[in-house]
Amino acid sequence: MAIARPVRVLGLAAVVMWFFFIWQILKPTSPSSKNKAKEIIKSFERDPNLDPTGEPEGILVHASEEYAPGPAGTARINATLLALVRNEELEDMLSSMRDLERTWNHKFNYPWTFFNDKPFTEEFKKKTSALTKAECRYELIPKEHWEVPSWINMDLYKESTEILKEKKVQYADMISYHQMCRWNSGLFYHHPALANTQYYWRVEPKVHFFCDVDYDVFRYMQDNNKTYGFTINLYDSPDSIPSLWPETLKFVAEHPEYVHDNNAMDWLTDKVRRPDHNKKANGYSTCHFWSNFEIADMSFWRSKPYEDYFNHLDRTGNFFYERWGDAPVHSIGLGLFEDKSRIHWFRDIGYQHIPFFNCPNSPKCKGCVTGRFTDGESFLYREDCRPNWFKFVSQG
Ligand code: GDP
Ligand code: MN
Repeated sequence: MAIARPVRVLGLAAVVMWFFFIWQILKPTSPSSKNKAKEIIKSFERDPNLDPTGEPEGILVHASEEYAPGPAGTARINATLLALVRNEELEDMLSSMRDLERTWNHKFNYPWTFFNDKPFTEEFKKKTSALTKAECRYELIPKEHWEVPSWINMDLYKESTEILKEKKVQYADMISYHQMCRWNSGLFYHHPALANTQYYWRVEPKVHFFCDVDYDVFRYMQDNNKTYGFTINLYDSPDSIPSLWPETLKFVAEHPEYVHDNNAMDWLTDKVRRPDHNKKANGYSTCHFWSNFEIADMSFWRSKPYEDYFNHLDRTGNFFYERWGDAPVHSIGLGLFEDKSRIHWFRDIGYQHIPFFNCPNSPKCKGCVTGRFTDGESFLYREDCRPNWFKFVSQG
């Protein structure tokens, strides 16, 4: 029986489509992208998190009665645990607090300072203060620190965020995220509640701490001449910061005297490990300290070089027209204007903010897998910039 021609054509097309469909499912995944990810993982000779890790070298002050809560805590220095947080994040904040109190703060009783752009609820205050013997302070951010600055053109903001969205920049059209990044970059340390405070440990809701830490980390910073401490070092999304490095270079050209002799320029400008990132970010490697964890001395943020740098960046409007994060801004500021030997990797503080970890090899740690960098998809390994920090700066 003869089959009509159009039916034959349709049949043939169906067979071709079927084979194409099967091929799509069974074909080997692109060898180049797979190898690339492996290559980058392999270029890490040995993850130092696998090496036995104890307390850092240098002067350490351990827990004692002098860290008792209240006025008896004479050994505490001018420092606070600091959290910017929304009322809706109460449960996740409690979980972070439980971890940090258990592993560290119940021994040292440093005060907690909570910041919010809206007043904290009574429930928030009651439940957070119930988790600690230390003092808790609840602070409202002044409008002039949080509001979108007068020089931002909202039409331009809307147009710019459309472009960022097309490039899949996370949180591109969430204005509060831009406000938060700006506040964390250059405003938090001007809050009147911190006027007499020098050091802070930034804590976000929903993070985890895994290891017992038995020395006063703030005293460690002070006694060992450290400005900034981090746990995780990552690449950033270059599409969120295309003009950050060019603006930085303009600023540096105006103020060459601000650049420290012992800077971390190699780490900031590396283009060997992820050349595409460097290219898209116009000369910046995009490597940064992941700032959801930071233990730092605010004197650096309050110094003239960093203040002038922040103001220069702020006037460009690109905290809004692009989506500059506080992590790259802090990191570039430190990498250029601070002595890199004053930046410390807290390898002994087990930490997680989804999806990355710092999990050292130590009997003091529980609940994380030693040396595991991420529990997410394997492509996330590419985001690890610690090998560059270790290569150009130090493992210490
Ligand atoms: P991610 O870590 O980059 O995904 O961003 P998060 O949503 O965790 O925000 C970073 C930090 O800023 C967290 O501590 C949040 O609680 C806080 N945060 C972000 N946006 C706001 C906001 O609009 N108001 C307040 N009060 N806190 C915010
Ligand atoms: Mn977060």
